[in-house]
Amino acid sequence: MNDLVRSALVTGASTGIGRACVEKFVAEGWQVFASVRKGEDGERLKAEIGEAVVPLIFDVTDGPAIAHAADQMREALMGATLGALVNNAGIAVAGPLLHLPIEEMEKQMDVNVTGQLRVVQAFGPLLGADRSLSGAPGRIVNISSVAGFSAAPFVVPYACSKFALEAFTQGLRRELTPYGIDVVAINPGPIATPIWDKAESVDPEQYAHTDYIKPIRRLVNYMLERGRGGLPPSAVADAVWAAVTSPKPKLNTIVTPEPFTQWLLGIMPRRMADRLITKRLGLTPDALEP
Ligand code: NAD
Repeated sequence: MNDLVRSALVTGASTGIGRACVEKFVAEGWQVFASVRKGEDGERLKAEIGEAVVPLIFDVTDGPAIAHAADQMREALMGATLGALVNNAGIAVAGPLLHLPIEEMEKQMDVNVTGQLRVVQAFGPLLGADRSLSGAPGRIVNISSVAGFSAAPFVVPYACSKFALEAFTQGLRRELTPYGIDVVAINPGPIATPIWDKAESVDPEQYAHTDYIKPIRRLVNYMLERGRGGLPPSAVADAVWAAVTSPKPKLNTIVTPEPFTQWLLGIMPRRMADRLITKRLGLTPDALEP
């Protein structure tokens, strides 16, 4: 590869924010390794966005497939460093903690947290932890969420994964300092992507036998409404681009259509925030059926 052209890896590139990042980086003249789980998604990205897209096929829960993709990338980079890793692949698991099947929580953490670790271990050397490579060290941008700061009821598995990703981001940044590899997070609020339609596949009726069914129905409708009215994924891609290219990127960049609410939640006493959220969802003692 020509070492004047920089390259990035974007995980979970088939749809939504990941795809928007691929489009942005290619438009800026970068080569983009786009991780997808199905070969046909990679071919589609290449056909729609251009030859600068190099599909890599792996699931972030599949260590050997990730290692194979890292070998392919090492060969393609021909001794140069990778310019950026955008850890974007993720899922959102919902359900009330008292009744949530344990495997659902395990899946959430495996994809959104351990998955990011697998990817960092495989591609970290190419970002410059392998000191035999030439070129400037790359940067890691983790796609966290505003759910990394505040846990909404019934989407706590997701919030746990994003709180954990915040710790991962902070600690990894400190550990990678000797290599000059900076690590930052982007914290989107509602963004209009397919993730919200997948929320529909969380069938609230599976919790029909619990005291929570009414507030859960309310939350699912609220989430779908907010998601579909969210910012376009390109708004996040612009923030990712700034995080990769600015000389001193912000450690957390919040991208949301509701900056005031976000700010208010951040400064509000936590008991007050609890009251506001529980009241809004009908999570009050008098809301329970006798
Ligand atoms: P999306 O569902 O369109 O994209 C998720 C991507 O991750 C898809 O390409 C999917 O194929 C991939 N993926 C899922 N599981 C995977 C696995 N096991 N291995 C590899 N790839 C996998 O949703 P999105 O909204 O674009 O989500 C992207 C990221 O943005 C996620 O980390 C999500 O938590 C975060 N986020 C989204 C929003 C939002 O409102 N949409 C808000 C905050 C944060």
